Amino acid sequence: MPWKSNEDYIKESSLCPRCNSCEIVGHSVDIEGGSASQRVGCNECDAVWYDVYQLIGYQVDAEISGTLGSVSHGTHREQDLIPAFLDEVRARKGVALAEAWNFVCEKTGLHYHMETVLSHEDPENLQYRIFWGDPEDFDSDQERQATIFLEALFAILEDLAPRGYVFGAHEGDGSDFGFWPIEETE
Ligand SMILES: [Zn+2]
Repeated sequence: MPWKSNEDYIKESSLCPRCNSCEIVGHSVDIEGGSASQRVGCNECDAVWYDVYQLIGYQVDAEISGTLGSVSHGTHREQDLIPAFLDEVRARKGVALAEAWNFVCEKTGLHYHMETVLSHEDPENLQYRIFWGDPEDFDSDQERQATIFLEALFAILEDLAPRGYVFGAHEGDGSDFGFWPIEETE
């Protein structure tokens, strides 16, 4: 009985490449560098072969690529929350700050250059720059725009919450924003 070509086997890799039986059993997988192989046997015709795998990429583990727990605490001020939340979006999406900012602008429909909103001379310590003036003296329009940014960041972080977690204020401390296990908020 002739063996199938690789091409035909890949199309139906759950079938024996020699007798087409589905009674095949895979054994342990050996990984070496960028490829892997698994010994497979057919219980019908006793054929034995190796399935060969090739590394095709990687995926960031969203579960552990950002903060779990508090992202910002002790403040409700936009000038504190906006930079903290933006930095968390950057970390979770694994992108540069400017890219994270563009993402937020798309959500808000407001297109400000990041530099006019945030100063970041010290990249470790983002500062909110008051492009609307002093936030203590915001007029209603300035207040509205700051709120739009904050709400967009909030929605983005809710979407980026890892499985089993929600983003929001801690139930015991309304000024502690972060990712909390779902059980804890019930
Ligand atoms: Zn077989």
